[in-house]
Amino acid sequence: MNSFDQALTDAKKSLTRTDARVLQLNMGKLCNLTCVHCHVNAGPHRKELITHEDLEQTIDWFEKTDIPVIDLTGGTPEMHPDFRALVERIRSFKKPREIITRLNATILNEPGYEWVSEFHAQHKLTIIASMPCYSPENVNAQRGEGVFDSSISAFQKLNSLGYGSDPDLKMHFVFNPHGAKLPPSQEALEADYKQELKQHFGIVFNNLYCITNMPIARYASYLKRQKKLAAYQELLMTSFNPSSIDGLMCRDTISVDWNGQVYDCDFNQQLDLKIEGQSHLKVWDLQLDQFSQFPIRTASHCFGCTAGSGSSCGGTLVAVN
Ligand code: SF4
Ligand code: SF4
Repeated sequence: MNSFDQALTDAKKSLTRTDARVLQLNMGKLCNLTCVHCHVNAGPHRKELITHEDLEQTIDWFEKTDIPVIDLTGGTPEMHPDFRALVERIRSFKKPREIITRLNATILNEPGYEWVSEFHAQHKLTIIASMPCYSPENVNAQRGEGVFDSSISAFQKLNSLGYGSDPDLKMHFVFNPHGAKLPPSQEALEADYKQELKQHFGIVFNNLYCITNMPIARYASYLKRQKKLAAYQELLMTSFNPSSIDGLMCRDTISVDWNGQVYDCDFNQQLDLKIEGQSHLKVWDLQLDQFSQFPIRTASHCFGCTAGSGSSCGGTLVAVN
């Protein structure tokens, strides 16, 4: 039994699936940035992208399901050459779906991507965008020089199209702590973000999602170089909060990589921890009634989702005092 399963047993908790609510599709590792907290190791020279054929098969399958949400991630999903065709196809479904894009806002300022803001507004995409601080120093340290200014101008453009104020154009921000610590209270930080971004830059947005940094991939290497990896892992483990279990994203999300392979979550995907006994399961072969019975594969990194207030793609899971 691994240490996470032992913690579940000690807390008399079990981790089981509910009905699938989200199809989270990682379209590939191509990105114009190389953020230190990136658990995907994405970057400008990565070649991994879902093929046109596999994307078609994935969306054919998705159309036949009742899964209400598709969450497009990467890398920067907009850098995939089929991104626009994909969105248009989903918008042509009889059954409407929410389309989330995990937006790296700086892409709006890259040559060749002038279409992004209008396209997203026209197709009513929900935007979830990284914004690790409301001051330039922290953002640039975590994501690269110039990222703060570029993100600010991108968010101002999205605001001018109605994002953050029109109820159909939701824009949420993501906060990751800078350094080996847990996120602060999401509620309090959201209030600070709203005040600071409005006052200094005129920016409005819907919600702030505080996400705990996962000590895998590039972030694990970063902590290792700083000699902080073991202490951070210990912090996550000793901050285990059993009340976060019910909200864990692996319970209602189907995570799919750029090869169409199915995983329990994006983190297991990056660690190549495939679903037990399903090492070649492609999403277009997935039977949802069988999927709900598959056990969720855990390991010590799962403490990253259950520390303190808990953490998922939609932010913290429970309030802690
Ligand atoms: S965190 Fe996002 S924006 Fe940064 S390198 Fe990774 S995929 Fe790109
Ligand atoms: S890492 Fe994945 S499998 Fe583990 S608790 Fe988090 S979401 Fe669930």
